[in-house]
Amino acid sequence: MDQLISSNVRETLEKVSASLGCSPTSAQVASYLDEHDYLRHLRDEFLIPKIADLPCTDLSLVDGSEESIYLIGNSLGLQPKMTRKYVEEELDKWAKMGVHGHISGSRPWAWAEDNLEERMANVVGAKTDEVALMNGLTVNLHLLMLSFYKPTAKRHKILLEDKAFPSDHYAVESQIRLRGFDPQQSMLLLSPRPGEETLRTEDILELIKKEGDAIAVVMFSGVQYYTGQLFDLAAITEAGQRKGCYVGFDCAHAAGNVELKLHDWGVDFACWCSYKYLNSGAGGIAGAFVHEKHDNTIKPALLGWWGHDLKTRFKMNNVLELQPGVKGFRLCNQPVLLVCCLQASLEIFEMTGMQALRRKSLLLTGYLEYLIQHYYSEDPTRPLKTHVHIITPSDPQQRGCQLSLSFSIPIRKVYEQLQKRGVACDMREPSVLRIAPTPLYNTFSDIYRFVETLGSALASH
Ligand SMILES: *Cc1c(COP(=O)(O)O)cnc(C)c1O
Repeated sequence: MDQLISSNVRETLEKVSASLGCSPTSAQVASYLDEHDYLRHLRDEFLIPKIADLPCTDLSLVDGSEESIYLIGNSLGLQPKMTRKYVEEELDKWAKMGVHGHISGSRPWAWAEDNLEERMANVVGAKTDEVALMNGLTVNLHLLMLSFYKPTAKRHKILLEDKAFPSDHYAVESQIRLRGFDPQQSMLLLSPRPGEETLRTEDILELIKKEGDAIAVVMFSGVQYYTGQLFDLAAITEAGQRKGCYVGFDCAHAAGNVELKLHDWGVDFACWCSYKYLNSGAGGIAGAFVHEKHDNTIKPALLGWWGHDLKTRFKMNNVLELQPGVKGFRLCNQPVLLVCCLQASLEIFEMTGMQALRRKSLLLTGYLEYLIQHYYSEDPTRPLKTHVHIITPSDPQQRGCQLSLSFSIPIRKVYEQLQKRGVACDMREPSVLRIAPTPLYNTFSDIYRFVETLGSALASH
């Protein structure tokens, strides 16, 4: 790596700008960091939308032929260039050989997903046999809860964060009802302290210690979708299991974003979608993890033929030979076109690794934080100026790539101005923007352009 670039973001920006003879906020610094980015070639693996092709742009304000400033990989990742090729290969195969595609070609449909599970396991820090690709995220969460949530009169609660993603909230609520319990009594929601926006690890651990005997399952997100907070999965797992709880995580915003070690941390179960940081396209095939320690104890509550051992699956004799662990949770034959989409993305992850991605990510997000603080910190001498407060923890160990920015003014008009200028990001009324620079394809110049564009959007709204 370049000797000016270290893990200390501020120091890096100061050293680079000093060597270039410019300010740390200059565009030259972004260019320098892009030139010295050891992962910059990965952007070429993706199709980057042009500004003119986004629906809300105003071409009198910007050059439509430029690439958009795409900072919303936390919602939908970009399309890898190979996706179309792989999908077309299977469409061609279907057209040419019909049913024979199940067992022929480079990607036999009958076991297409098996070829991907090792790559997926590497991304989430699991063993290959601990990962299954199947269904959608919420379906997988339900299937896992059906096996891990076995409430009793004394131990019937599920602990999750207050304001969890709605689908997770509803899933937990309905699982509690399904077992004949009352969400009012059994759903334990943890909120930040008054005046605070994110949870303190000590408070999570304390609550588990206090209430653990009544908690059946601790079910947190890995990275909180709204605040961008990365939870201490290892500590939460350890604390929950010490009290006899099962501990599971929804890693929708963590998979492909931060380094996960689901196996080493001893996490009981996890699930995630693949269309956010894993770039598999809307509604892509989702992932599920069950730790191998449960291979002989935790069984799927619902069965289907895809849980049957592949070697004898097609004998069709109705004598189930259930695959151990999470593989036994599979119900249906897999959507091969979705498998193709995920393959294209996981191959890009294979060109690097989560450790290298994370190293870039810390600098990329740190750069965004630096610029936002530089231009928009609260300044008592200029009370009328718009200021921006970053909700996401400032400790890099407690966040992934996303920063959630809270503005001192309602943000809708500003957001519209950003869209007109070719920025793709996420807004939550009244005043929050979620900005996710993803290390696979975002550049330091994207961050520079975003902050510059934010300045003109604020000036013109
Ligand atoms: C994106 C997301 C979902 C979406 O669920 P689907 O079943 O894929 O529609 C659910 N939970 C969390 C935490 C998410 O971030």
